[in-house]
Amino acid sequence: MSESKGFYSLPALPYGYGDLAPFISEQLLRVHHDGHHQKYVNQANALLEKLDKARVDGTMGPMKCDTQALAFNAGGHYLHQLYWSNMAPASSGGGGKPGGTIADLLEQEFGSFERFKQEFTEVANSVESSGWAVLVMCMQTDRPMLMQVKDHHLYSIPGFRVLMVLDVWEHAYYLDYRNEKAKYNKAFWDVVNWDEVDRRAEKILGTEKVESRKAVNSATAHVIPKR
Ligand code: MN
Repeated sequence: MSESKGFYSLPALPYGYGDLAPFISEQLLRVHHDGHHQKYVNQANALLEKLDKARVDGTMGPMKCDTQALAFNAGGHYLHQLYWSNMAPASSGGGGKPGGTIADLLEQEFGSFERFKQEFTEVANSVESSGWAVLVMCMQTDRPMLMQVKDHHLYSIPGFRVLMVLDVWEHAYYLDYRNEKAKYNKAFWDVVNWDEVDRRAEKILGTEKVESRKAVNSATAHVIPKR
């Protein structure tokens, strides 16, 4: 694994491998973090090294293939980072209800926290094959939005900012839940780290939002109405 600047590295989990049980077992978390996530990091770095070398050598590789593979692997790394950190053991504040900015955002968009949970769960339950349930923020409408990201990088919109993710690839639950994905999706609510999701919301709605608006306004000369 490359640790040098300009490359990806696997982050340590912000809790112990056994700390998310019974949502996910220690065995599953080790396989998922040390195995799957590490592989995305390694493959993304290998592609970056390949592109670096081709530029030095003046050669041209299969760019369609390499850039798609880089999006898949770098996307996998980014989403897993977000996934690990938007969970916490119950003993460290995982689960329960959101507060602060994220609570207000969800209430305004979905009408209630319960309705948001129902919609997010349905999005997760209905992912076909490999994908993610993702809560994003649209910077133009000021509205949170639910999305299904296929693999790690498809059906996603560049520029949307991620508030919360749930990995619903089979590798994320099969060892513990077998084919009962809905049970895994339901148990996720017991470990959501709402403090972290709220920090993301604060960050997105703070300086980044102001900068985004400036860029959009100068590009379009439109004033985005405040909801
Ligand atoms: Mn995964």
